[in-house]
Amino acid sequence: MGRRIILLGPPGAGKGTQAKWLVEKTGLLHLSTGDLLRDEVARRTELGMNARAFMDRGDLVPDDVIIEMIRGKIGDAEGFILDGFPRTVAQAEALARITHVDHVLYIALDREQVIARLTSRRVCRDCGWITNILSNDAATDGACRDCGGELYQRDDDRREVIENRFDVYIGATAPLIAYYGKLGILSEVDGNQSPEAVLVQILAVVEAA
Ligand code: AMP
Repeated sequence: MGRRIILLGPPGAGKGTQAKWLVEKTGLLHLSTGDLLRDEVARRTELGMNARAFMDRGDLVPDDVIIEMIRGKIGDAEGFILDGFPRTVAQAEALARITHVDHVLYIALDREQVIARLTSRRVCRDCGWITNILSNDAATDGACRDCGGELYQRDDDRREVIENRFDVYIGATAPLIAYYGKLGILSEVDGNQSPEAVLVQILAVVEAA
């Protein structure tokens, strides 16, 4: 099984949900730069204070900050699931200098679907469980199905910020599809299916190798 995995795709494609399930199935290390940054913001660290303005606008935090933050976490890890990193070609090139990558799973979703999903997304404050108020299994009482924690709407899941995040994705991150395509390690999955169906396809790719 290929153990060094990148989940690539626009915001709202389901990278976080897939990463959590993949961790349960494989035991690999989950590294979400968005989660790491939100933790820095919550702890009011210097890094968090500097990153916050970029995040609130839906812009990317500068490459050097992100690369420094992730470098130590990847370290000598035998395997990992990267979720939200790399997001630029410069980040991908820096990653290539740190370690090699086995699989890039590109979860495709178009602009309208991204906006519809993110405006109705909710996240558990305690365990990070991700849900959608429009889905069938949505909690109706505002509590997390997994741990009972409070569900909240991320600050950057507001329509105008979402639109900017999608534009930033197209401009800065989508070029990674061609970058990893050329390396022959990219597999595309249709993100507009049930999350369970997406997981089956991802597992078929990573378990085949
Ligand atoms: P996410 O949770 O992946 O949607 O990330 C939330 C926000 O954190 C993004 O909109 C960016 O402002 C910032 N961020 C997360 N990962 C990166 C990255 N790899 N490069 C630059 N900014 C990032």
